[in-house]
Amino acid sequence: MIEFKQVNKWFGKLHVLNDINLDIAPGEVLVICGPSGSGKSTLIRCINRLEPIQKGQIIVDGVPVHDKATNLTKLRADIGFVFQQFHLYPHMTVLQNVMLAPVNVRKMSTADAEKIAREKLTQVGLTDKAGAYPGQLSGGQQQRVAIARGLAMTPKIMLFDEPTSALDPEMIGEVLDVMVNLVSEGMTMCVVTHEMGFARKVADRVLFMDMGKIVETGKPDEFFDNPQTHRAADFISKIL
Ligand code: ADP
Ligand code: MG
Repeated sequence: MIEFKQVNKWFGKLHVLNDINLDIAPGEVLVICGPSGSGKSTLIRCINRLEPIQKGQIIVDGVPVHDKATNLTKLRADIGFVFQQFHLYPHMTVLQNVMLAPVNVRKMSTADAEKIAREKLTQVGLTDKAGAYPGQLSGGQQQRVAIARGLAMTPKIMLFDEPTSALDPEMIGEVLDVMVNLVSEGMTMCVVTHEMGFARKVADRVLFMDMGKIVETGKPDEFFDNPQTHRAADFISKIL
């Protein structure tokens, strides 16, 4: 579903992605972890071309992402992206936030968009918040709206960049629960997170990055219990 072939990226002189090779299968759940500044956000932002690359190729469901001829709007419509910050429109209701892209990008009728938006709000446990404004919701609820907004586009892939890092501890669980449910539906997911419990429960693979490189990959239990590199072991000891 997602393929990185010798991907290299620089920010000026900083080699931020160094020969990344990676294959993510349909339905696979990949957790990416690593120290701050190791290139995790940059890696997933390249998947829907929020960032350009200088060398190599990324192919999403057969589409060469960084090819000039690639239709970006169509590509991004198929890839849901959930950020650390929720990026909801404060002047629009929850329902309007979730309906926006289906109407504007998928060109759905308002009635169809409302139907799918309500379905997705139910899926994230927020049926009764459709008429509320983002400012009236807790952080955990806002992040669940952001997930519903991504799902309303019926994406092929969901990308998450530290989705629980901005949340108060008591709200992390409700967001992770929604993500776990998504896994059971077979969604292809790429999740930057340090939530080890989540990774152990649902990840097919954990990928550890440091200084722009993939240093180690493995099954979650193998990775966390028996890391193969000093860098990974050191990192794991710090997040425990
Ligand atoms: P992570 O998500 O693992 O914390 P990032 O992918 O955000 O790491 O950043 C990797 C490196 O690239 C860091 O050194 C960061 O400072 C740098 N970086 C990120 N975005 C930019 C940018 N737009 N311009 C210049 N440097 C950047
Ligand atoms: Mg980051």
